Amino acid sequence: MNNNIRVRFAPSPTGDLHIGGLRTALFNELFARHNNGKLLLRIEDTDRERSKAVYTDSIIESLKWAGIVFDEIPIVQSERISHHKKIIEILIQEGKAYKCYCTPEEVAQRNRERGNESLYDNKYDRYCLSLDTIFSKSFNINGQAGGNKPFVVRFKLPFEKGPIAFTDLIRGEVTFDVEQLDDFIITRSDGQPMYNFVVVVDDHDMQISHVIRGEDHISNTPKQILLYQACGYAVPQFAHLPLILGPSGNRLSKRDAATSTLEYRQNGYLPQALINYLARLGWAHGDQEKFSKQEMIGLFELKNVGKCGARFDQEKLDWLNGVYMREMSAQALLNLIIADIDPAVEKKTPYFSEQQRYALIDIYKERVKTVAEIVQSIISVHSAPSSFDVDALEEWITPAIRTHLVSIIAILEAVDPFTIELVSQAIKNMAKQLNVKLVMLAQPIRIALLGTSSGPGVFDLVATLGKQETIDRLKKLYSIQIKK
Ligand code: GLU
Repeated sequence: MNNNIRVRFAPSPTGDLHIGGLRTALFNELFARHNNGKLLLRIEDTDRERSKAVYTDSIIESLKWAGIVFDEIPIVQSERISHHKKIIEILIQEGKAYKCYCTPEEVAQRNRERGNESLYDNKYDRYCLSLDTIFSKSFNINGQAGGNKPFVVRFKLPFEKGPIAFTDLIRGEVTFDVEQLDDFIITRSDGQPMYNFVVVVDDHDMQISHVIRGEDHISNTPKQILLYQACGYAVPQFAHLPLILGPSGNRLSKRDAATSTLEYRQNGYLPQALINYLARLGWAHGDQEKFSKQEMIGLFELKNVGKCGARFDQEKLDWLNGVYMREMSAQALLNLIIADIDPAVEKKTPYFSEQQRYALIDIYKERVKTVAEIVQSIISVHSAPSSFDVDALEEWITPAIRTHLVSIIAILEAVDPFTIELVSQAIKNMAKQLNVKLVMLAQPIRIALLGTSSGPGVFDLVATLGKQETIDRLKKLYSIQIKK
């Protein structure tokens, strides 16, 4: 038990929560719970142009839906800007950062003039480092200096320190050559402190012990380590999670699969299925595929997270979703449908009783991949087919069978009580008497009820829709003219 373990999920509200982000949140949660630590949420909204309140809301909603629970109230980065600015001021005073008045064009021009032999190539040449000592220290960082010229603040890289090494808890030893960097900007010309800097200050203030995040941030880590050191903060441990890849082996994109967490909710995936699936995307415990949250918490260790990208497998997600869906009662599924997928499902199926809806949910959950498909199926079976599948008619509604429809109607009229057992017995007897295979009668009934020859068990449907509705639909099928 280690009470000093504190991790955070730090999304930027520049879009809905990507499933890669959800997986990062989940791995942080599993790590925190496994170690009796704390999980925190920080909204990284310092990019004022791209950050939107609607995205903050939708990210929080997605995390809640997915069942990720945070232990403290969320930290909102933009509310801490004055603190960030104070720390930058201190770094300037200490000579660890300096104001730079060069425009990007001026930097590029000087680099061009120096040609390829330049030590700095396209990097910043420290032109303002000496200016800083002359006149910029006395200016407030919010203000303007250098004859009203806007300035940025650059971090003065401690080149003398040599390479930066850290032990990534997933990837092992990672070394970066500090010479590859330049004096990067920590405050933009509009006075906004930048990502690499604010992350460090916030992680320090939030007492984060382990930074667990996507691999796309690994190139930021050396800069952040240098900033931790410059600020005199303890450096946390790092773990960079492998990317989620699409079928082509490139980073998962919208072309490959739905990427927004809320889309999964809308498309009828269960949060426990998505979470289980995401846990297995990059992490493994033997061959086991299905895990409860408690099991995952018990077993989760960063050393079992793979180094390589994890390929997104829609089929496996669909399979898991089906497994979890079948574990739920019809009542629980209906509640979920109303809450997450179609609040109007009852209004759209007014002729069904509650029991009929439950029965249909139980019938369809065995056959489909998502809860949204259950909804579509129930809505579709609620109305008599408005048209019939031409191939199905051609295959199954032969003139002989058409005459059988009349007998089927008569036989079903007589079934009382109209239970699945008595219905199936009556139709089976009829097949026997006519000496035809059961399918020769079952398919026409299915076509009458659904308009197509594929669908759930026909006796389940008949018993659920009831005598009158079944007979009405059979009569409608009988009445249509079949072109031969
Ligand atoms: N805000 C960053 C992002 O959304 C995460 C930063 C971090 O985890 O250090 O990608």
